[in-house]
Amino acid sequence: MSAEGTGRQSSTHCPYCALQCSTVLSGERGAVAVRPSADFPVNRGGLCQKGWTAPAVLSAPDRLLTPLVRGADGELAPAGWDEALDLVAGRLREIRARHGADAVAVFGGGGLTNEKVYTLGKFARVALGTSQIDYNGRFCMSSAAAASTAAFGLDRGLPFPVTDLDEADVILLAGANPAETMPPLMRHLQGADLVVVDPRRTRTAERAALHLQPAPGTDLALALGLLHLAVTEGLVDQEYVDARTVGFDAVRERCLAWWPERAEEVTGVPAADLRAAVRMLGGARRAHILTGRGAEQHSKGSDTVAAFINLALALGLPGRAGSGFGTLTGQGNGQGGREMGQKADQLPGCRLLTDPADRAHVAAVWGVDAGTLPGPGRSAYELLDALGGAEGPRALLVFGANPVVPAPRAAHVTQRLEALDLPVVADFVPSETAALADVVLPVAQWAEEEGTVTSLEGRVLRRRAHLTPPPGVRTDLQVLHALAVRLGQSPGRFPVRPPEVFEELRRASAGGRADYSGISYARLDAGEALHWPCPAGSGGDAGHPGTPRLFLDRFAHPDGRARFAPVDHRPPAQEPDGTFPLYGTTGRVLAQYQSGAQTRRVPELVAAAPEAVVEIHPDTARRFGLADGRLAEIGSAHGTARARVRLTRTVRADTVFVPFHFPGAARANLFTGHALDPRSRMPEFKVSAVHVTPAGER
Ligand code: SF4
Repeated sequence: MSAEGTGRQSSTHCPYCALQCSTVLSGERGAVAVRPSADFPVNRGGLCQKGWTAPAVLSAPDRLLTPLVRGADGELAPAGWDEALDLVAGRLREIRARHGADAVAVFGGGGLTNEKVYTLGKFARVALGTSQIDYNGRFCMSSAAAASTAAFGLDRGLPFPVTDLDEADVILLAGANPAETMPPLMRHLQGADLVVVDPRRTRTAERAALHLQPAPGTDLALALGLLHLAVTEGLVDQEYVDARTVGFDAVRERCLAWWPERAEEVTGVPAADLRAAVRMLGGARRAHILTGRGAEQHSKGSDTVAAFINLALALGLPGRAGSGFGTLTGQGNGQGGREMGQKADQLPGCRLLTDPADRAHVAAVWGVDAGTLPGPGRSAYELLDALGGAEGPRALLVFGANPVVPAPRAAHVTQRLEALDLPVVADFVPSETAALADVVLPVAQWAEEEGTVTSLEGRVLRRRAHLTPPPGVRTDLQVLHALAVRLGQSPGRFPVRPPEVFEELRRASAGGRADYSGISYARLDAGEALHWPCPAGSGGDAGHPGTPRLFLDRFAHPDGRARFAPVDHRPPAQEPDGTFPLYGTTGRVLAQYQSGAQTRRVPELVAAAPEAVVEIHPDTARRFGLADGRLAEIGSAHGTARARVRLTRTVRADTVFVPFHFPGAARANLFTGHALDPRSRMPEFKVSAVHVTPAGER
């Protein structure tokens, strides 16, 4: 039930990043006010600029309020819900009959609630029978997930509460810039000496005791150099390594080849700084190592995260009270979004599509034969790349994503979408991807519906409806239900009420790697802080208390021990050369979020970050004839983006930085390539070889 018109307040969480700051909403549509909750331990009364202005998206002037169907004239025109849904279901049936079940694909998002993620995965595998489902989190958390699962047996971004960071003496941040991406987190870092690894002197790096500024694509070599120094300086916690890990000998042998001078030569970071960093970490009573997208979005991203995990394990940090290793999940439901079944290879609860027992469990909950469930499908980029091709999907349903902007090799992805027989987008604003769709379905957004999300610390949180959706708008769950029924499913199989979906999700996740079975809306609404795993049937009458801290006694592998991974440095897929002499790297800015579909509709955020810029060192700008404030073209072997020059000494002279939130010709991903991490299938967003020229001159 919404609080609209009642004068009541609604306690909920921010629609954007994985910190999931707690907020209180009041007021009616058009005048919704937001304030931070003072008692939520993560944001403690703080919000960033995006959180303060989030209600503006609820009243976006171009909010979608009716389905749109592309007519014979090629234009999108308003249509009724029955007309639009009948059209989609009919075309899906035709395409499946002609090309098979895998000719229909689904693309989800890391901002969708757990209930939507769960239903989307079930819809794909049961109602459509397709293996072709993945989501935009593949571009975000997949490398961290792959490395963490391999090392610890579980993938939870932070295996401890955010508040544990308050007590740290030293924190190493590798490729993370929370001062811009999740500013309230900085309150938890202010008591520690920060070691920041980043090719840019970011706002986070400015607050560091030590800033290591490696060449793009060399974080793995840097981690190997740090581990070498931990070994040679006698900082390895041998007792911990012997008792709690396996595989150190092979890793030690490999890192011994990374003497400091070699690490300096490859990374450009002085050996003395590497030595200082490892002494800070090794000498601290409580220390953490945290990675972010800067270390993860590479064709060797999972190996890079593994190298930082190796360092953390050698120093005895993971699973030690007050210390640890973690990854800073990005999207609002980046954690739950990768647990509840929209990944190409996973079923709810992080169960595996390749595991017969996992398939049987989920099939029983869904009331289907396990043999009818498809196997793993293509990863996000591979799926987008295959669209409309001879062997690829002919229809695509997009929920909670805008892949035309944040996918690598964006011009190619746009062409693939245009080649489809049936592109369908469910969104609340006319995104760049919706503009390419044949059918657009207007759906409700964060403050208009109930649900849960899981924050970066594995805590399950309630999102609450403050407003009823505008007339003409339906929820994603209603849309999936209506399509499933039209595709022959019984109405009861796809519930539309979020609490009902959550009850089913609990059963599907029971006994899985991400076990939510002991969590309920009632417990969350009573204010309990529940971090998964939280199994049902344990913990007595009060229920299981949840698990804020993982790994204190044992890791999640059957023998209870963490795994070292023998990884080694390799160069990025593209390196600067005579034609493309600079590194191009991409990332986020404070005032925008992801593809910008939401934040580019908020006047205050547009005023703060109105357009794409290319950050370039003044010496480099002089070399290439570029002037501050003028337009430039950033070109690679894959394509060319256009952005306004911003001179700054925060970037290395061999590197330019372009934020990826902006559409059209300003898409940074026009120049990013499609080299993929072999394990995580993460594209290499962080390193391209580029040239930068004054716009129009080349
Ligand atoms: Fe929202 Fe993240 Fe900003 Fe908090 S830090 S207000 S969750 S965008």
